[in-house]
Amino acid sequence: CQKCLSIIKKTKFLNAYITVSEEVALKQAEESEKRYKKGHSLGDLDGIPIAVKDNFSTSGIETTCASNMLRGKGYVPPYNATVVQKLLDQGALLMGKTNLDEFAMGSGSTDGVFGPVKNPWSYSKQYREKRKQKSHCENEDSNWLITGGSSGGSAAAVSAFTCFAALGSDTGGSTRNPAAHCGLVGLKPSYGLVSRHGLIPLVNSMDVPGILTRCVDDAAIVLGVLAGHDPKDSTTIQDPVKPFVLPSLTDVSKLCIGIPKEYLTPELSSEVRSLWSKAANLFESEGAKVIEVSLPHTSYSIVCYHVLCTSEVASNMARFDGLEYGHRCDIDVSTEAMYAATRREGFNDVVRGRILSGNFFLLKENYENYFVKAQKVRRLIANDFVTVFNSGVDVLLTPTTLSEAVPYTEFIKEDNRTRSAQDDIFTQAANMAGLPAVSVPMALSNQGLPIGLQFIGRAFCDQELLTIARWFE
Ligand code: GLN
Repeated sequence: CQKCLSIIKKTKFLNAYITVSEEVALKQAEESEKRYKKGHSLGDLDGIPIAVKDNFSTSGIETTCASNMLRGKGYVPPYNATVVQKLLDQGALLMGKTNLDEFAMGSGSTDGVFGPVKNPWSYSKQYREKRKQKSHCENEDSNWLITGGSSGGSAAAVSAFTCFAALGSDTGGSTRNPAAHCGLVGLKPSYGLVSRHGLIPLVNSMDVPGILTRCVDDAAIVLGVLAGHDPKDSTTIQDPVKPFVLPSLTDVSKLCIGIPKEYLTPELSSEVRSLWSKAANLFESEGAKVIEVSLPHTSYSIVCYHVLCTSEVASNMARFDGLEYGHRCDIDVSTEAMYAATRREGFNDVVRGRILSGNFFLLKENYENYFVKAQKVRRLIANDFVTVFNSGVDVLLTPTTLSEAVPYTEFIKEDNRTRSAQDDIFTQAANMAGLPAVSVPMALSNQGLPIGLQFIGRAFCDQELLTIARWFE
């Protein structure tokens, strides 16, 4: 715990943490040590430093969503999110709350009120040497890379060894995308396997708490702690969940791996593309059946997500009205004027833009044409997966991101909406369909940066998915 705290201090420039809960962590570590010395039974995560994205409620610890709306007045939740409580019940040490895009809307961790998160790989020896080869006069720090997002703070925290695992959230790829860019395992469990209670919502019908770790086994242990029914989240499964013990899968020869042909997009970098086919060959050489499959509605996924996401955002954000939580403006001429000014001051333009789009889609005259239609398209996207899995495919193998992490200066050339639309292209559909998906590091690029590949599995076959991912890693 002390070692991790000292690394947190040394790596402050990464901007991975919004709040470091040093006192809490040290106290928990002391208690854990006492349990150990007294020979008491230990939890599955006893003494393990873990960080939590700052959109999960943490009792007594400020929760900001990287937004002026909540940090203004200092929102300190009176309860723990179920997943946070479960971590603590198993002895985990809460190191702090990690940085994100405001309200998890983004794919770079660049759009939060606390500033962007820097990717620890920007400072790796190999990357720096490569950059120097390209140009001798560059200021090293100006080339720093984004982490991806929106759970970039969590990814940077694990990648920089400030903790062993971190919670992210995943609505369209926010756990898998930064995992790929930071050389980590990023798991989005099946929708309904893990409670969302206390996760400040983005898109309720797609949000899932995500897990970022350095290896698949660690992700399985954390998933084992988090999974299961929660009476406080009616969308969680009722059936009891078996412990996630990964059997050693040494034989992949009976597997059928699907390669969705629609994922071979022109924007995909040649390096990711060649690693993707290398991975497919690897399975094939071990005797697995690797077949091309079709998910014909993939191209509608981005626009469909936009309508559904913004519509749910419009409804969700209504709770931030200046009355109950956080920020309230000084204007008191009317309730409406107070609402409007509070939101103008509290939210960034990404959040405000989504609220406006969503309300447009929900207008009486637009509802059928946009919101209802998008829900129908969502069903088609989900059914594509059902058809593929029913045809005997065990798991889909896809890229996670279009390319390796890019420098911040390049990333911000485009606005949040365009970026999200591009960056989530391989990850979003799994959220639409509620399927489990995991990004696993595959190799380093020519520049010395990590590239991840994604496996998508059948609903609630998270254990099978992780077993295959572990064989692969
Ligand atoms: N990039 C997507 C968005 O901005 C996904 C975000 C997420 O998964 N939290 O909506």
